[in-house]
Amino acid sequence: MELLVIGLDGLSTNMLDRFDIEPEYINRVLENGASGDLMSVDTPTTLPAWTSFATGKDPGSHGLTNMIQQASDYETSPLRTNTTDAAAYDLIDDALFVNLPASAGRVPAAEDTHLVSAMLAEDEEDAVPSHLQQLDAFEDYILDHDKSLKKNPQTYFDHVCDITRARRDFAAEAFDEYDPRLGFVLFSTPDWAGHLLSNFSDDETRGRYYRQLLSVVDTCAQDLAERADNVVLMSDHGFERKHTNIHINDFLHQRGYLRESESSVSAANIAVQTAKAIGKRSSVLYEKIRQLYNYIIATDVGQTLQEAAEPNIDYRNSKAWQLRYGCVFINDKRFDHPAVDDPDALRRQLQTELADLTDDDGSPLFRDVLLAEEAYSDPDKRAPDVIARPAPGCYPTLLKSPTGGYASHTNNFNHRYNGLFAAMGPLFAEKTTVETPSIVDVLPTIMAVLGMPLSPEFDGKVIEAATADEYSVEYRDSDTIPHPQIRTDSDQGARDEAVQERLEDLGYLE
Ligand SMILES: [Zn+2]
Repeated sequence: MELLVIGLDGLSTNMLDRFDIEPEYINRVLENGASGDLMSVDTPTTLPAWTSFATGKDPGSHGLTNMIQQASDYETSPLRTNTTDAAAYDLIDDALFVNLPASAGRVPAAEDTHLVSAMLAEDEEDAVPSHLQQLDAFEDYILDHDKSLKKNPQTYFDHVCDITRARRDFAAEAFDEYDPRLGFVLFSTPDWAGHLLSNFSDDETRGRYYRQLLSVVDTCAQDLAERADNVVLMSDHGFERKHTNIHINDFLHQRGYLRESESSVSAANIAVQTAKAIGKRSSVLYEKIRQLYNYIIATDVGQTLQEAAEPNIDYRNSKAWQLRYGCVFINDKRFDHPAVDDPDALRRQLQTELADLTDDDGSPLFRDVLLAEEAYSDPDKRAPDVIARPAPGCYPTLLKSPTGGYASHTNNFNHRYNGLFAAMGPLFAEKTTVETPSIVDVLPTIMAVLGMPLSPEFDGKVIEAATADEYSVEYRDSDTIPHPQIRTDSDQGARDEAVQERLEDLGYLE
């Protein structure tokens, strides 16, 4: 194999440093190759970010800006695979992609190229094309984790280690069988493990579990890398400890932009009201409740509790709301009941007001507050109106503030913008630090070093500092860009249902 891209979902070097983890193989590539803290996209989440990798375009162009979407009737639903933009598996012949998120239902347009999809697929049979189901390792291939195992952390971490090894075995057999020029494999487990770290209250316990997983991921990455002359390690976003929750919807509510509906009375709702009342009086007790909450959020009861802790938004009568992860939408004519006369003015006003928000010590809650045209190179109308990028250690939650105000203390682990990029082999520069390469730039860079003409549609550009030589970049003619091909035999309804459940488990859907 000439080049292998190994995806490490949600991995960043700060997490390795925090838990004192020194993965032998990953460190070797970081130190000897061209590496840097990869910059993710808005929002820095799995589906938008991997779609940006696959298309070389930012989310404003490919349309998947968040983990969920909202229709004109205000209903939120899981995303579907992008079906309008050419992706790596359409542009690169003789390639094999294993476990690429947000590609379910797509058929490679490139010649001799194979695609195993991941998140957004219904099950193993939906994710793996039938000719690849013939591989021996398919029998043990696992698409997704069993969330019920989260109740026992050791069982769960053993389970994600098994998934990691099964993915390595499947990818190894597929690469050996098909001998592609370019390979891709994604290990999703660092992301899943990262989310579970919030359930523990001390770094010693967290470190023990995270270290266990990372040593398996490192070995599996090395086993596959031995098959390739050149290797790119990359994540789609990083992880970090969050000390502050930002409650954007509470802010919008208090300033009169967001209206809440009468919330229904339920046992879960009463539990949340009680927790909030206690939180106002005792931060110690609140912290205990928060830990318990993190623990049970992994269960079905926890999902109900989380729903109750999110405001019930009266969208029709609201001017603006946060959908999730700092993305604010304005109720303009994209929606069935527009309630804003001058959306442009409101956009600028919200941008200013959000940028002014600080915590109790006066530190800004956001590193940047951007309009769509500032965050994306060519946003279409589905893009969020305002994108509030949280400051380091801050997380824009959907949960209501337990203590009043727009910021509250937390002790969670969640996504951050900076991930990881490291490239090693004859095609790449040696021992070089690359200044924040963007995830959108990875595909153009891979294609350039392999001597392939780039798509003129790319938003990304070649990361020149990472390449061994100077490359003269050539572009295809626009009319030779392949059209996306969609599988016709698949059941989108069943897929939506499976995905809905999975996103609920990760806390992405109400
Ligand atoms: Zn991810």
